[in-house]
Amino acid sequence: MGRRKRKQVVYRRVRSLPKVFTCPKCGHKTVKAKKHAKEEKVEVICGHCSVSQLVDKNDLTEPVDAFGDFIDIYYKDQEYARLTAREEKLWEKKQYTELTLVYSFLADNANINAKKAHEEYEKNKDPQDLEQAEMWRATAAKYVENEESVRQQLDSGVFVDATIENIYEEAEDNPYDEGEAKAAEKPKRRANIEEILGDTGFLEF
Ligand SMILES: [Zn+2]
Repeated sequence: MGRRKRKQVVYRRVRSLPKVFTCPKCGHKTVKAKKHAKEEKVEVICGHCSVSQLVDKNDLTEPVDAFGDFIDIYYKDQEYARLTAREEKLWEKKQYTELTLVYSFLADNANINAKKAHEEYEKNKDPQDLEQAEMWRATAAKYVENEESVRQQLDSGVFVDATIENIYEEAEDNPYDEGEAKAAEKPKRRANIEEILGDTGFLEF
């Protein structure tokens, strides 16, 4: 006769989900999610530096889910800001190949924002969301255009990635470089972006 099988005891760990989180901006553990019963959004806000973000909620949304969405948006916005700063630097340093990559990332980023704004519009039919979707779509198109334009100039040899040496020559004010610099005209860029970035309502989608 075999040994009696012991009844397997299942220990169910009662998970208690965290409700306070560390702020990506100031580093304090003071971020909480404020759920309002009637509204469709949760406000995630830091009690120390006041950085805040409205995120979507449903019946199952826990503070940790809202915090996750907040983190996604926070880093995406940071990345966008970092890339636009990088764009300026790359023009300055004549690093055109890298510039095409930055434009491609910026176009993707703007497309994601366009999509999100459009989803928001589908939900609430708020014309402002539609407007934002259109603006982001136009921004994405502009970046794609810039990417193509820089790539063409690179292919045709009008743009040449600077090496350390010719950055140095240029600093010496070499008159031979001037005509070349004029021929290598920047494509039109960032027509609407300054406006878009200047509009704070926009960044807090
Ligand atoms: Zn903070």
